[in-house]
Amino acid sequence: MFGLKADWSHEVFDRYFTIGDYAGGEARWCPGCGDHAVLSAAHRVLRDEQQKPELSVCVSGIGCSSRMPHYMGTYGFHGLHGRALPVACGIKSRRPELDVWVATGDGDCFSIGAGHWIHAIRYNMNMVVMVFDNAIYGLTKAQTSPTTPAGFKTNTHPTGAIIAPHNPLTITLGITNASFVAQVVDWNPPLLYETLKAAYRHRGTSFVRIIQRCPVFSDKFVKDLQNDPSRFLLLEHEQGIAMNESIQRQFPERLQHDPSDLGRAFQLAADDSRLPVGLLYCNPAAPRYEDFSSQGADLTPQQRLTELETVLDRLTI
Ligand code: SF4
Repeated sequence: MFGLKADWSHEVFDRYFTIGDYAGGEARWCPGCGDHAVLSAAHRVLRDEQQKPELSVCVSGIGCSSRMPHYMGTYGFHGLHGRALPVACGIKSRRPELDVWVATGDGDCFSIGAGHWIHAIRYNMNMVVMVFDNAIYGLTKAQTSPTTPAGFKTNTHPTGAIIAPHNPLTITLGITNASFVAQVVDWNPPLLYETLKAAYRHRGTSFVRIIQRCPVFSDKFVKDLQNDPSRFLLLEHEQGIAMNESIQRQFPERLQHDPSDLGRAFQLAADDSRLPVGLLYCNPAAPRYEDFSSQGADLTPQQRLTELETVLDRLTI
């Protein structure tokens, strides 16, 4: 009509993507929730890397943080409780060209999803695993989670959590083939951004534990940490997370740590007196499972049928 030519192709043309291209619906987390900061950092990383939104997918389980796929302008999969990682591994097996972001929480990942956590780290498929750790079940209103500090009062332990919490860092570092382990806090945006960027660029499973504010149910847990910077130890190294002055100002205690040193990373992670922030461990040479499991993903339907029949013929008796 009127001399205009419609473009009916499905090709997505290269152009500069803005933050708005990665944003989904309006985030409905509580005001002051640390999840907002993580979402912003992820949007910024995607924008700065100029990743096409249609080549990115955000996968989650169940919990407050697992609402993240709704707030991303990428593909998304809001799955079942504790099952974000098997879904993410499945995506990576069949569509290795997609980049995968996993949003999971301390309850979702370290409790009902703990088995998947262990195996996904070992598989080392190329994805960013962000664990939003607020040390409590927020969505279901204040039950003890695997990382609730002993003595912290919750609805399931009104006189205080009884058993000492899991240490997600020592557990992850102890898993065969772990390749990227970092810890950050949500209230230092430059450190959060730089860590997620390094995680995104790492080729393998990047496990990032994010100590996250939940002002509604575990405010004291975070306030105690925020009020005492000596509780943290900032890990610096030329092979680690890029640092700047605003990061260093917030963490006066600093240490040079070579992230290729697994034994030292384990020592730092196990030290209860100070929480390491930054990159604890990185092994870019660790094998990735999708390099094997994605073989054949590009076959045509007819080729797949032929392959299947060949395999079935072997079972003929
Ligand atoms: Fe965030 Fe806590 Fe509110 Fe959940 S309950 S949205 S974790 S502040």
